[in-house]
Amino acid sequence: LPQVKIPVCQIAIETPLRRLFDYHLAEGAVPGSRVRVPFGRQHVVGIVVAQAADSEVPAAKLRGIEAVLDAAPLFSTADLALLTWAADYYHHPVGEVFATALPRLLRLGRDVAPVQRSWHITNAGRAALADGTLRRARRQQQLLEYFAAKGAVDEQALDAALPGWRPVARTLREKSLLEMNEQTRSIATREAVQSLQQGPVLTAAQQSAVDALTAPGLAGAHLLDGVTGSGKTEVYLRAAGAALARGRSVLVMCPEIGLTPQLLERFEARFDAPIAALHSGLTDTARARAWHLAATGGARIVVGTRSAVFTPIPNLGLIIVDEEHDSSYKQQEGGFRYSARDLALLRGQQRGVPVVLGSATPSLESLHNVKLGRLTHIELPERAGSATPPRIALIDMRAHPVNRGIATPLRHAIDAHLAAGSQVLLFLNRRGYAPTLLCQSCGWVAPCESCDARLTVHLAGGRACGSLACHHCGAEAPQPERCPRCGYGLQPLGHGTERVEETLAEFFPGHAVERFDRDSLRAPKQLTDAIERVHSGSARILVGTQMLTKGHHFPDVTLVGVLNADQSLFSTDFRAAERLAQTIVQVAGRAGRADRPGEVLIQSQYPDHPLLKTLLERGYAGFAADALQERQAAHWPPFSRLALLRASDPEPEVALNFLKAARKIATPAAGVALRGPVPAAMVRRAGRYYAQLMVESSQRTRLQAFLAGWVPAVESLATSRSLRWVLDVDPLEVL
Ligand SMILES: [Zn+2]
Ligand SMILES: [Zn+2]
Repeated sequence: LPQVKIPVCQIAIETPLRRLFDYHLAEGAVPGSRVRVPFGRQHVVGIVVAQAADSEVPAAKLRGIEAVLDAAPLFSTADLALLTWAADYYHHPVGEVFATALPRLLRLGRDVAPVQRSWHITNAGRAALADGTLRRARRQQQLLEYFAAKGAVDEQALDAALPGWRPVARTLREKSLLEMNEQTRSIATREAVQSLQQGPVLTAAQQSAVDALTAPGLAGAHLLDGVTGSGKTEVYLRAAGAALARGRSVLVMCPEIGLTPQLLERFEARFDAPIAALHSGLTDTARARAWHLAATGGARIVVGTRSAVFTPIPNLGLIIVDEEHDSSYKQQEGGFRYSARDLALLRGQQRGVPVVLGSATPSLESLHNVKLGRLTHIELPERAGSATPPRIALIDMRAHPVNRGIATPLRHAIDAHLAAGSQVLLFLNRRGYAPTLLCQSCGWVAPCESCDARLTVHLAGGRACGSLACHHCGAEAPQPERCPRCGYGLQPLGHGTERVEETLAEFFPGHAVERFDRDSLRAPKQLTDAIERVHSGSARILVGTQMLTKGHHFPDVTLVGVLNADQSLFSTDFRAAERLAQTIVQVAGRAGRADRPGEVLIQSQYPDHPLLKTLLERGYAGFAADALQERQAAHWPPFSRLALLRASDPEPEVALNFLKAARKIATPAAGVALRGPVPAAMVRRAGRYYAQLMVESSQRTRLQAFLAGWVPAVESLATSRSLRWVLDVDPLEVL
C-alpha cells in the first residue's frame, strides 16, 4: 500500500519534553501564530513553529488544532529561528524557550487589545486644582497636578512613571476630574521618526563613535568602550536616531529595572515615537500590551531587560546592549539559563542588524572578541564636558585606626567633602545590620537551619537587635536574647549597610543619610523617591550596595568610599576578580561627574594585592589585559567553553550520585573533558544539597556536539525524574 502523506503543523508546547508536537494542518495555522490544541487531557496554547509535508506520528494518533488565536503570526521566521537556535544551544526544551519569549497573558491564549488608553485632566479637574477642593486628598491632588503639567499620558507611560496610579485615577474619573480615551496610537512601521531635541555638542571621541555607528549599510557587532561619564548614552541616542530616521526600529537592552526609568526618559525626551518598555516590574496586562505594541510594529523603540531580547520587532534596525558586562543579562535561576547579551549578538548576526555593546568595564569575553576581530572597538577614553577623572587612592586598614568600619583618613575626607557642600557616596556590598550574630563567651554563631550559612542581623523597627535573616534561602527568625548554648549575651559582628547608616548618622550629625539596598528600596517608587532626594540635595550621604554602582548619575557626589574591597579578593570563582574590578571602577565612576573633581578612597586590609595595585596603576584596561593572560594560562573562558550540570536534592549524596551516573554514561569525545562531580561551594542551601559536574572544551562546536548526545542520555537516567537538575551552558558562576 502506498504511504499517504499527511501535512502537519509542528507546534511548541510548554512542557519539559524536548520536542515539537505534530497536529493536523489547519487553515491560518501559519508559523509564528498561537493555536489552541488538545494535549493529553488538557487544552493548551502552543506556537506553530513550522509546517511539514509528513509526520512520523501514525495518522490515527494525529490530532487537530482547535483554534488559531492570531489573525497574523506573532513571530517572524527570523524570530522563530532565534528561539529554535536558543533551545538547541542551551539544550533546553523548546516549548519552555518559547514560553520565555511570550508574556503570561498571551501564553494563556488571551487576546491583547492593541488599543492605547490615555488619560487627561478635564476642565472640572483644572477648576478643582485652582480652588483647592482636593487639599485634603494628597494623592488625588498630586495626580491631577501631574496631568495638568503633562497633558494626555498613555497608560504604559503612567505605569512606568507612577506605579499604583490606577485606583487614584479611577476615583478622579468618577468625580469627572479625569477622562480616559481609547485610541489606536501607533506610528506606521518604516515612517521616519523625528528627533525632538538636538542633543549636546559631541566631543571628538563621541563624534567618531557616532560616525562609526551611523555609517550607511552598517552591520556587525561593536563594543562601545567608554569610561563612566564619557557620554555613551548620547552615542546610543544618535545611533538610534539614525536608524529611526531611516524608518527602522530600535531595541535597547538594559540590565535592571532600576536603570530602566533613566534610559527610558532619555529616549522619550529625544524621540517623537511610541516606546514600549518591557521589564519584570510591569503588571501582566501592561506587559502584554507593551509586548504587543512592540511585536506589531506600533512601538519604534523597545527598551527592556533580559527577556526583551526575544520580543519580535518588525523592521529592526539596531540593537543596543547597555552595560553589557552586567551579570543580570544571564538568567541564573530556573531551567532556561540563557545569556541575553549573547543572544542579542546572534539576533543581530542572523538579520544583518548592527549590535552595539556598551560598557565602561567591558566583560573579558567582549575584550577577547575585539582581539579576535568579532567586535569592532570604539573607545570613549575621556569624560564629556569639563569633568576630570577622579583621583583614586587606597587606605591601608592595618595602618590606620578604624572606628566601626571607617578608617580615620576616610572619616576626615568625608568631613572635608561635606563641609565643601558636596555629597558623599559609600559603597558596601553587604546589606543588613551585621553579617554575623556571635556569642562572645562560647563562640556560637547564629546558623541558618536550611543552609551552610550564617544568619544576617537586620534591624527591626529601628532596633539594633532585631531579626535574623538568611540571604541564601530567605528564612527569617527573631533574634534570640541570649546564646542558646551558654546563655551569655549576643553581639552583632561586622558591618552591613544598616549599621553603616547608623554609624554615619552618629559621626556626621545634620547630614541626612540615604540608604540604597534591596531592603530599603523594595518598590520602584521607593528608588525613584530616594534618587529624587539625592538630586534635590536633601540627602547628603549615600550608602548602599551594588544598586549604587548601576548607571545612576549623581553630579554632586565628589567623594566615593569603598568600605571593604576585600570580600572577593580570595574567592575561588574564576570570575570573582573581574566582577570586583568592574564594581570598583563602576562605583568610582560615580564621583565628580560634573565640573568638580572627584576623589575615590578604597579601604583594604590587603593594599598590596596585585589586583588592587594593577587597577590603581593601570586602570581597568590594564587589569583586563592581565586577567585575560591569566585566563589563557589556566584555560578558563573565553579561552575555553564550559557547561555545568547542576543537581540538588534534600538528601545528601543523591545529587552527587546522580552526577556520577551522568559522568559514567558519557561517551568520551575528543577535546571534551569532564571534571567532577564535586559538591557545590555552599553544599546545603534552602534544605537541599547541591553538586555539579563540569564539561569543558576548547571548542564550542565540540562541546555542543557532546552535549547534544549526552543531555538526552542524562534525561533518560532513572534518577533524573526524582531530583532537580539543570544544564547551565556558559555559566557565570562555577562555585
Ligand atoms: Zn554562648
Ligand atoms: Zn538559609
